[in-house]
Formats: sequence, C-alpha cells, structure tokens
Amino acid sequence: MRPFLSLPWKILTLTLGALLLMTVVLTSFSLVKMEQDFHLQQNKQLELRQQQFNHLNLLLENQLRSWIESFTDMVQLRAQNDFSTFATELAEHYDAISLHLNVESMWLLDAKLQPLYASVAEIPKPVLTVARQVLALQQPQSATFCRLQCTKLVMVPVQNASGELAVVAISTTLLDVLASLKQGVGSEVAIVRIESAEQSPLFNFKLLSLSNPELMRPVFAQLSEALSLQQAIKRGIDVELNQQQYLISLLPLLTQDEGFYLAMVDDISKFAKAKQQYQQQIIWFACFSFFLLAIIIYISTLRLSRRLLNLAAQLPLLAQRQFRQFRQQSSHAPLIFQDEVDVLTQSAHQLSVELEHLHQQIELNTQELENIAMFDLLTGLPNRNMLQFQLKKSLAALERQQGALSVLFLDLDDFKKINDSKGHAAGDQLLVEAASRLRGCIRSADIACRFGGDEFVLVLTQSNELNYPYQVADRIFEAFKQPISLGNQLFYISTSIGISMTEDPDAVPDELIRQADMAMYEAKEQGGNNALLYDQQMYQRLAQRLVLEREIKDAISLQQFSLSLQPQIELATGRLAGFEALLRWQHPERGIVTPDEFIGILENSPQMIELGYWVFKRSFFLAKELINKGYPDIRIAINLSAEQFLDPQLPVLLAQWLEDLNLSAAHFELELTERTLVKNIDATLTAMRALKAQGFYFAIDDFGTGYSSLSYLKQMPVDIIKIDKSFVFGMLENDADYQIIVSTIAMVQKLELKVVAEGVENRAQLQLLRQHRCDYAQGYYFARPLNDVQLQEFLTDKVPNGYLMLG
Ligand code: C2E
Ligand code: CA
Ligand code: CA
Repeated sequence: MRPFLSLPWKILTLTLGALLLMTVVLTSFSLVKMEQDFHLQQNKQLELRQQQFNHLNLLLENQLRSWIESFTDMVQLRAQNDFSTFATELAEHYDAISLHLNVESMWLLDAKLQPLYASVAEIPKPVLTVARQVLALQQPQSATFCRLQCTKLVMVPVQNASGELAVVAISTTLLDVLASLKQGVGSEVAIVRIESAEQSPLFNFKLLSLSNPELMRPVFAQLSEALSLQQAIKRGIDVELNQQQYLISLLPLLTQDEGFYLAMVDDISKFAKAKQQYQQQIIWFACFSFFLLAIIIYISTLRLSRRLLNLAAQLPLLAQRQFRQFRQQSSHAPLIFQDEVDVLTQSAHQLSVELEHLHQQIELNTQELENIAMFDLLTGLPNRNMLQFQLKKSLAALERQQGALSVLFLDLDDFKKINDSKGHAAGDQLLVEAASRLRGCIRSADIACRFGGDEFVLVLTQSNELNYPYQVADRIFEAFKQPISLGNQLFYISTSIGISMTEDPDAVPDELIRQADMAMYEAKEQGGNNALLYDQQMYQRLAQRLVLEREIKDAISLQQFSLSLQPQIELATGRLAGFEALLRWQHPERGIVTPDEFIGILENSPQMIELGYWVFKRSFFLAKELINKGYPDIRIAINLSAEQFLDPQLPVLLAQWLEDLNLSAAHFELELTERTLVKNIDATLTAMRALKAQGFYFAIDDFGTGYSSLSYLKQMPVDIIKIDKSFVFGMLENDADYQIIVSTIAMVQKLELKVVAEGVENRAQLQLLRQHRCDYAQGYYFARPLNDVQLQEFLTDKVPNGYLMLG
C-alpha cells in the first residue's frame, strides 16, 4: 500500500511550493531592482562628481587664463616689440603667482618653442606638445598630465607689437582641485595609477595624492584583485573595513589611457546598512506571509479533511447494517455554503436509506424463504430440513445430559388409496388432521415433522424411560382410532411406526431416520397398525430384498421364470380336475429357486405385481394349450399376492387377456390366503365381486393357519377351501389335525363349497380323506409340480383318458 498523505498536506505542499516559488521570484526581483536602483544612484553620483571635477578644472583654467590675459594687458605686451620685458615681468611675478595661484612651474616659449622664461629649467614633453597645438591654433589650451604627480597645464598664446607669437604655459598641481572636490562632494579623493588592462583583474596600483591617507591607504589595501578594472569603473568597488562599508569610485583622469584615475572614497556604511535592513525586511516579510498563508491553508483544508475522514470512518457502518447510526454520526450541517463534501454526505445518506430498505426487503424474503425451507406449508409442521437441524441439536444435548433419544418414523397405512380415490384435496385434509393428532401425542420438548407424503417423523428428546417411545406410539394408535371425517365420509386410518433409539451423541441423524424407516417398513409388512423397534436383521432383510428386487426385475426380462403345474384330483372319481400353477425361478447361479425363498421378501414391491401378471399370462397360455390338447374342462389355480389382488388394474387386464385368448374365466381359480382377505376387507370384497362377476372361481388357500373362520367366509363369494398341508401331514398321527380336517370338510360341505386337501403324500392320507368325502386332493402322492416336459409325460402316461392311473 502506498503511504497516506492527508489532503491538507497535499494541498499545502502544492500551494506552498507555488507560493515559495512566487515569493522567491518576487523577492529576488525586488532585491535585484533595489541593487539596480542603488547602482543607478551611484552612477548618477559619479556623473555628478565628474561634472564637478570638470567644473573645478575649468574654474582653475579660467583663473589661470584670465590671470595671464590680465597680466599681458598690464605689462602692455602688445605695445612691445619683443618678449624680453614680458619674460622679465613673468620672472618677477612668478613667486607671487606661485603662491597665490599655487602654480608649480611657468614657462614662456617663443614660436620655435624656445624658452624665453622658465621657472624650472626642464620643460616636460607634454608642455612642448600642447604648446605646439596652441601655436598652431592660436588659441588657449589646457591639459592634464601625470608623471609622479598629476599636473594641470594651462597655455595661452600671447602676441607682441611686431605680431610675434609666444606661449605662456603654467603648470599647477591638481591637489587644489582635489581639495575643492573633497569639499564639494564630501568624499575622500585620491589620484591612483592603475597599471592593468581594462578587462584584466585589478592589480598593481599606486596612490599618488590622497586627501586622507590614514583612511584611504587601508581602504585601498582591501581591494580585491578579483575585480576587473572595467567593473570597478562601471560599478565602483565596495570595500569593508573595520565594519564600515566604503565605496571606491574611479574616474579616468586623462583622455589618453595612461592609467591615472581620480578615486573617490565614500563611507556608505549607513546606506549599506539601510539597504541590508531593507533587504532583510523584504525577506522577513516574504517569510512571514509565506507561513501565514501556509497556516491559513492548512487550517481551512484541515476541516475539509476531517469531514472526509469522518465520513470514511463511518462508511463501514453500512456494511455492519447500522444505517441509522451511520446517518446520525455522519450528518454535518454546512456552515454557510454547501460544498462537495456535503453533497457526498447527502449521497451517502441516500445510499444508506436505500440500502436499509433493501436490507429490510432481503430480511423479509429470507424469513419467508426460511419458513418455506423449514416448515411444511400444508401441515405447518417442521419439514425435513428442520428435522435435520433439530435432530442434530437434540443429539448434541445428549452430551450434556444422560438419556436416550428416539426417532419414530410413521406412515399412514393406505393413504395412497384414499388420495387416489378421494382426490388430493381430501388427501391434504387428511394429512392436516393427522398432523394435528400427532402433535397432540407428544410433549412440548418433542418434535413432530412432516417427512414427505404421508410420512411423519417424531423426535422424542431425552427420556430416561426406555418405554417412552412405545407410550407415544400407543397414544398415536389411540388417537387414530377415531375416524377422520372428509366431507361427509368417515375414514379409519391406521399407522405403522418404526422406532430407532440412541444414547450416543455422535449418532448420525440420517442413520437414525433410516433405521426408524426400516422398522416402519417391517411394521407395515407385518400388517400395519403396529410399532416396531429397529434391529440389525431388519437391515439385512432390507438389503436382501433390494438385491432380490433387482434380480427379479432382470429375471422377468431374461425369462428365468417358469410355471410348474401340480395336478388336483377329484377324489370321488379320480378325474384330473385341474392344476395349481406354482412359480419357479431358474436362477443362473442358485439353480431352481422356489417361491417361498423370494415371495415373502418381495411382498409389497412393484416387482411382485409385475411378476404376478406374468404368472397370469403364462397360466392363461398354459390353459389354452391344455384345452387345445383335449382337456376342455381344465381349471388352473393361480396364487395371488395381496397387493396384486388389490391392484385396481387387475380385473381390466385379466378381462383383456382372456378376450385376447378367447378363454373363459371359469377355467381359473384365484387362490387367496386368509391374510390377504383380512388385510382390507372392504377392498377385498369389492375386488372379489368384480372378478367373480367375470366368472373366476375363488379358493381360500392354507385354510386353518389364519384367523378367519368359516362363518366369516360366508359373506364372501368363495368357492373352494384349501386345507393347509400342515394338517394333512399330521392327520394320521395327530388327532387335533385330524379333527380339524374332518370338521372343516363337514362345515365346508354344509356351506355348499368345495374342499381341497393339499400335501397328500401317501395312500393312507388319501384313503382317510376319501372316507370323509373330501372333494379334491393335491400332493406328491399324485404328482410333484411339473415343468412343461414332465407335464407332457404325466398327461400321456398317467392321465390317458382324463382319469388318473395310480401305479
Ligand atoms: P401353496 O399355495 O400352499 O402351494 C403349495 C406348496 O406345497 C407348493 O410349494 C408345492 O410344491 C408344495 N406341495 C404340494 N404337494 C406337496 C406335498 O405332498 N408335500 C410337500 N411337502 N409339499 C407339497 P411351492 O411350489 O414351493 O410354493 C410355495 C408357496 O409359494 C405356495 O404355497 C404359494 O403360496 C406360493 N406361490 C407359488 N407360486 C406362486 C405364484 O405364482 N404366485 C404367488 N403369489 N404365490 C405363489
Ligand atoms: Ca396355493
Ligand atoms: Ca397352500
């Protein structure tokens, strides 16, 4: 992440940068301007001094010239023929002039520049040069020349009566002029000889005359050699001595460049100080304004930054869904004018309002979804999801408290039939009523859920009584004893209940439910309206059943099933009355599998129904074959499972197939066990009547093993009673069995029904049955169940003319 730099600091840095640049530029501009002004001032002063110097020079010249002229007049040179008198007079007056006018030397030169008079013998070269000019121009001339000292030359041409020309030359020291200049301008003055080229550094100078040697010598000693002569002439030289500031200005003394300069030294300490002070003031002012502005900017942006930071700090409240708090803590009334931050805050507020609204909407929807997800819409009971959740919770509670938890899996018996026959609205009504009854059977700590369809699961939390689940089951059975009224009809509904129990907090909820489900299944298998506790074998049975169901499905398509026919003999005549069709399974690994090994397990499965229809078709086919072979009265007994018998499709399909084969139903006897009969009496009767109307016969199989009584059978369209083989097996040794057989035969005949004894294995049994006028018999004594090949042999060998020949 990049380092954080606050907005005020950013603005401050930027503005201060700009400000600093501006201040520096302005300040340096004014400082430079000040410096320029200062130099301009100096130059002006220098000019003034030059003028003054020139003026003083002129004054001196004029003085000397007017003296010469007045002297010439006084001596009356113009009246004289030569210059001798004039020369004498000059000599005489020389001392006075020298004293009075500070003259150094004086010469009178003739036209050939020969001295007519000379105060000093030597005539310097410049004197002769200027004299020549004077003679040539016949006009006064003046000049300055310097050697060891600087001298002012003034020359005036004079003429005598004979018209001859001569030149009066007076040299005077410049010291006077310097003194006057000093007085006039107030500067210390000096004549300096500087021997250096204009551009080269200033060095090797010589002071010739000085107005104040004590001051000027040390001042000149400070001269920096770094400075060039040109610069020095142009701008002067600043020198610092004893904390005083001096300015040396140089004026070229001679027109020809001979290195002689008039130097003026001014004490500019005061001025320099003032200038320095002024400069400092400017800098101070700039700094002060700079810092003042910085503070103002910082303070003004600080507020802005605080507001922005405050808003930023409050924004996470939106994520925490504290919308109101966000609005309270981030609201800020603008001072006078609104700014961008206010607009931003307003937008954030608006956003928070919209988010709050959205959040509320989401919560509402979630609640709704949760309700849908956790509760059954029809019964209002918790649903599967809730069951999982509650079961987990209850299991976890086992860790803290001892006790057992039980799960009751409950299924309404025959709900599907009501639903199919009375419609879904009635089914729903029934479920609602069932749910409310269930709720009434449990404690508040227990949970009743709708598991799906007509299945309910109860979770009985912690109970130290192992009996408690059974108590609840009993209460449920009791509650369902009361009929449920749907519209104007009353329905009796029973339930099957499976129970699983655990004391283990780590038990898996799904496993518990599955176990209870299995136990319920078993309870239903056992006829319903009872409760069973899960045990290990249930699981094994179920597993076996699943394997079997799968195998049977394949077996039908692979044509592994066949029917064996076992003959039934009319005892009075020995006539072959018919056959019982018995199912055989040619299993690829196990060989022939008898129906007892799979039919019990397959009960209540769709496979059983499918197989049952196969049996019908095959039986019809075999009957057709037998009739065609010359047994026109043949009758085949077919075993039916309960669910097959109650299948509403049954009469329709049978009628269809009979018609297809052009067969009469009178060739068929439908064997029902007592258990099938009692399972659902109403439905059974309806189905029986329908099939009876088609022409089928009915036989009660395994008679004596169930709870039916003969009087009970009176109401049913039954034709034949089959005495169970267990009684036949025991009839010779066991008197009770014998009595049952005898009384059954007697009673059946009284009811004008026919009776069949099955399991006849020997002659003694046969004789006794014959003796008691049993109508028909079936058993290994006559024949075992016969496959197609065996049947053919049996018919040709043993029943040549329709009557059995017993060897
Ligand atoms: P079930 O209806 O009582 O059939 C008679 C059973 O007794 C047959 O056994 C038969 O082989 C056997 N049996 C006949 N005579 C004697 C005998 O003298 N001594 C002995 N010990 N047994 C004899 P199976 O074929 O194994 O059939 C067993 C049961 O399977 C049948 O009992 C019947 O309830 C059921 N079953 C057979 N075929 C079908 C079918 O197609 N559909 C249905 N739903 N059940 C069938
Ligand atoms: Ca049978
Ligand atoms: Ca039987």
